[in-house]
Amino acid sequence: MKNLLNLKDSVQDLKGVGPQRARLLNKLGVGTVEDLIRYFPRAWQDRCHLTEIRALESGAITTLCGLVRRRSTFRVRSNFNITRIVLEDQTGRIEATWFNQPYMRNRFQDGQRVMVHGKVEFNRAWRIMNPEYEILEDETENPIHTGRIVPIYPLTEKLTQRVLRSTVYNVLSRLPQSLPEIIPPTVVRKNNFPSPGRAVNDIHFPPNFQARDQARQRLVWEELLLQQLVVGRLRHRYQESKGTALKRDGAGLEKFTSHLPFELTSAQVRARDQIFHDLVSSRPMHRLLQGDVGSGKTIIAVLAMLLAVDSGRQAALMAPTEVLAAQHYMSIKQLLDPCGVNIELITSGGTAPERRRIHERLAGGEINLAVGTHALIQQSVVFNHLALAVIDEQHRFGVEQRAMLRAKGQQPHVLVMTATPIPRTLSMTVYGDLDVTTINELPPGRRPVQTRWLARAEGRTAYEQAARAAESGRQVYVIFPLIEESEKMDLKALNSEYEHLCQRFKGRKLGLLHGRMKTYDKEKVMAKFRAGEIEILAATTVVEVGVDVPNATVMVIENADRFGLAQLHQLRGRIGRGEHEGFCFLIADPGTAEGRARMEIMTRVTDGFQLAEEDLALRGPGEFLGLRQHGLPEFKLADLLRDAACLVEAREAAQEIIRQDPDLQKPENRELGQVYAAIYGERESRVRSG
Ligand code: ADP
Ligand code: MG
Repeated sequence: MKNLLNLKDSVQDLKGVGPQRARLLNKLGVGTVEDLIRYFPRAWQDRCHLTEIRALESGAITTLCGLVRRRSTFRVRSNFNITRIVLEDQTGRIEATWFNQPYMRNRFQDGQRVMVHGKVEFNRAWRIMNPEYEILEDETENPIHTGRIVPIYPLTEKLTQRVLRSTVYNVLSRLPQSLPEIIPPTVVRKNNFPSPGRAVNDIHFPPNFQARDQARQRLVWEELLLQQLVVGRLRHRYQESKGTALKRDGAGLEKFTSHLPFELTSAQVRARDQIFHDLVSSRPMHRLLQGDVGSGKTIIAVLAMLLAVDSGRQAALMAPTEVLAAQHYMSIKQLLDPCGVNIELITSGGTAPERRRIHERLAGGEINLAVGTHALIQQSVVFNHLALAVIDEQHRFGVEQRAMLRAKGQQPHVLVMTATPIPRTLSMTVYGDLDVTTINELPPGRRPVQTRWLARAEGRTAYEQAARAAESGRQVYVIFPLIEESEKMDLKALNSEYEHLCQRFKGRKLGLLHGRMKTYDKEKVMAKFRAGEIEILAATTVVEVGVDVPNATVMVIENADRFGLAQLHQLRGRIGRGEHEGFCFLIADPGTAEGRARMEIMTRVTDGFQLAEEDLALRGPGEFLGLRQHGLPEFKLADLLRDAACLVEAREAAQEIIRQDPDLQKPENRELGQVYAAIYGERESRVRSG
């Protein structure tokens, strides 16, 4: 009778593990039996098929079985020895060799049946070097490492496949009768899922590939269900909490709307109405506004902020760069001045006394609307009554920064905006806790930017067109990729590129903008560019997000392959914002197929959503837009591309569970509640306090 293990048992107490291996396992995030059985293989090798020795093919990866006939170890040099075991079956002989592992000699005994797996080669005799092996004590015992479908694990140094595999195998044979069932019974029946215990077993040691796939399906479902419960519960909590209901009857909004220089698109109207609907409710809004670059999100944010101000409260708009914050400040000030709104820019620029004055007026409630950078979330910034926090280009902020802005008010309404559209499956996981509004339409009259990819050697074409544009009164961006803006070297390179550019455009008015310039200097350059006093702006990615100068029509991007698709799309979004057609030139000689694919996609696709889909397909979700930093959960098994359908189902199930039993207290959710608490209990409380 075997001793059954407890899922919470430490791996250190397992037979054959001990402190040293336990430490290695800990490195892999494995501390308990539970962790170990959920440490899934990264691949499986089919070693079922046994080949007779006479049928071997030199160079082939092969599994074969034979009896041990001879064992020897001999020294080749002082620090090099070879252990050789001769195996024999009815059809021939083969030598298995190991280098510098003299103990292998005594692992085997003459006459034992041994199965080996590896690459076989013929060189006067058949050889197999450093094979995986299995000693078959008696013919009925199940092999672990050969003669079956064998799991291959992601490893850390010093831990071998063999050790890990044996450990997992032993643990699986000593698991309790049943593991917790967390998937609703209807779903289990509908999908014909194997039991939780069966699934765990089959994901590691599947009897066949179909069983593995069924196991994987169930485990993916479990994983997605748990993740959707996390975001669903967060969302539920926002919805249950009480915030400030704003009023829609203020005078400012009326006045403002009548002064708008354009008519809102119908997508904008829809977005505005959804947001207003949220704002007049006492349930704090928690909404994502997504729309392609140039779709006109800013004005929607302004309307929302005006509603807050009209209701006698404060609003804040946080942007990721000083350039963008300053631009928002100026354009919003211009729009709102006639409405008597007190608006102030809050950045790290200016003198300390100036900043203090502003902070005082903000705390006193004299300032209605604060526009700023990260400076808004400094401790010294205190609001009188912040009712609406807007975060522009939210993907550029971390989860904590967003939480810090929210914490400046008492359950304020929150609107986050992004021009980086993401495919639906991703948004369900990354933004699963948010309501989503999409602006799926550009203002009228926009023509898609024409994009061309040029090799370095053809770069002149781009600059000629840029010169013609400047000649006819348009403006130009030339973008240089500085990966690490803080690096002096790069800055030097940028300066010399700039000089080069000045030569090229002799007689034209040029300007330079990069992240290491002082706030004041940046503002000066941007103001000049906006006013048309600079015709050609050489810049780093500081202009990547949000900058809005409609007269700029040409963009030349040097070394464009050093940017990701999302970034290129953002950059390109700086042009084609006015009545004149935009041209974007990507100058690149990409060294990789992926780089070439990116350039090609850019020339073909102008729609941000389609681009995002292609980006996802090209790079996979892990790398996609660097989503990890936005809090994209790392899944062990689930693949958001492949398992999109599962995600939709799991999301629905999670929402239903939360509707019925938000705290997972009911008897039918007991096991789910326990598993959930074990995995997410701590993490969730961290998010909540954030
Ligand atoms: P984004 O969604 O990228 O933040 P912006 O809010 O900066 O876009 O808007 C891009 C440009 O479109 C701005 O110059 C803005 O004034 C203009 N715009 C916004 N809405 C409309 C509209 N309905 N009609 C015409 N122009 C508009
Ligand atoms: Mg914007």
